[in-house]
Amino acid sequence: MPQDILLHDTMTRSVKNVRAADGETVRFYCCGPTVYGPAHIGNFRTFVAQDVLRRTLELAGWKTKHVRNITDVDDKTIRQSQAQGQTLGEFTGHWLGLFRADCAALNLLPPHVEPGAVAHIPQQIKLVEALLMKQHAYRTEDGSVYFRIESFPRYGRLSRVKERELSTGGTGSGKNLSDEYERESLADFALWKARKPEDGANVWCAPWGEGRPGWHLECSCMSMRYLGESFDLHGGGVDLIFPHHENEIAQSEAATGKEFAAHWFHTAHLLVENRKMSKSEGNLFTLEDLNNKGCTPMETRYVLLAGKYSQPLNFTLESLSAARAALKKLAKAAASLSAGAGEISYEQLVSQAASLSVDNPFHAAWEALKNDLNVSEALGQTFVALKDAGNFADKTAAWLGFQRIINALGLVLPAADDDAIVSVPAGVQELAAKRWAAKQTKNWQLADEYRARLTALGWAMQDAKDDYKLAPLK
Ligand code: AMP
Ligand code: ZN
Repeated sequence: MPQDILLHDTMTRSVKNVRAADGETVRFYCCGPTVYGPAHIGNFRTFVAQDVLRRTLELAGWKTKHVRNITDVDDKTIRQSQAQGQTLGEFTGHWLGLFRADCAALNLLPPHVEPGAVAHIPQQIKLVEALLMKQHAYRTEDGSVYFRIESFPRYGRLSRVKERELSTGGTGSGKNLSDEYERESLADFALWKARKPEDGANVWCAPWGEGRPGWHLECSCMSMRYLGESFDLHGGGVDLIFPHHENEIAQSEAATGKEFAAHWFHTAHLLVENRKMSKSEGNLFTLEDLNNKGCTPMETRYVLLAGKYSQPLNFTLESLSAARAALKKLAKAAASLSAGAGEISYEQLVSQAASLSVDNPFHAAWEALKNDLNVSEALGQTFVALKDAGNFADKTAAWLGFQRIINALGLVLPAADDDAIVSVPAGVQELAAKRWAAKQTKNWQLADEYRARLTALGWAMQDAKDDYKLAPLK
């Protein structure tokens, strides 16, 4: 019997157990990246939190089905592919490759399905047809299609946008064509955008004319396609609550008459030096930026997961040094706790998922994770437990408990004697991880680019079947 995992639900504003409708597999959907540039560490805060949720569920005995979409057509991807003189597919393919490499470097479990919007245009058209048939949508003269908010009285339940009495100018009184619009505008939104000259070749044929789907539509369409009309949990950053998730609910529930998602999991934003992270502020960090400052992806992961997911997290460069020290401490503990027992793989731990007995030294840390993913408490309890490591009565149980926590957090610990061996610079390690990830996805061109960069830095990468080694070039 899987263990209960408590998690805050935005819809009910309460902490409740994550449930699987079939009692076995938690089917969940997360809004994925828009692939028009490198993902920043704010995006990765959200993806890391979702990864910790998935790992905690799996280690608690649940099966999961994790779907995360790729937004590969919207205003930004079209505009920027044109500016680069590339087709939309070439442009988004490049950024998708880099996104996947970053995910691998951060040790994120790959979603079970990672569907792209462009590959699901016919299904999106079908959904618009269903909404038109049921009078939840209407065509405009230019050939666009809008969702009629007035036809869906439950609109606003997730964000409480109506209760907050935002200045609306009245529901349904306006239309909104852009993919992202102001919080205050409670307006009918575009399901389908009629062809505009600046769209170039990026248009598709629908029964009502040429154009392309609006951004919100893809998530309704792909989540229901891969998880069913009702599924267990939906996640994303808080910025998506309104309008994106509100619109997803409206489109999906209006079409099916069923509850869309049973649990809503939102992650608060990452701030940088207490300011919103943005290009214009010049404080936007990518993994590569941090790499160039000598920080490993694992240090970044540690910083991103250490704060409570529901609270904004202030990112500082000092926090990365603290993460390095914490990871070293954990690595030393692992070396002494294992007592030669060797690592236990994530899959092995998942297959033995059971509750940790109350007298396991890491019981309190595991309970903290199950209680609304309280990672900071879990880490605190882990360090408290480690103080007593010499006195653990059942060494095997303690080693298993420790591994459970480290695996739930998805941490890959550095070698305990890292200082003694020739250390591979963080930047080189990340390039190698990216090249390996590119190879796994058979993106040979990207893999070769990374090899060339490694060579330029004086490092050789030797590939084996399941792994690779790095050595300085002779
Ligand atoms: P995007 O590529 O902008 O569609 O965003 C991908 C995911 O990252 C979404 O779930 C966003 O809500 C999330 N996100 C964007 N910025 C931040 C941030 N600063 N902190 C945390 N999550 C973010
Ligand atoms: Zn979405």
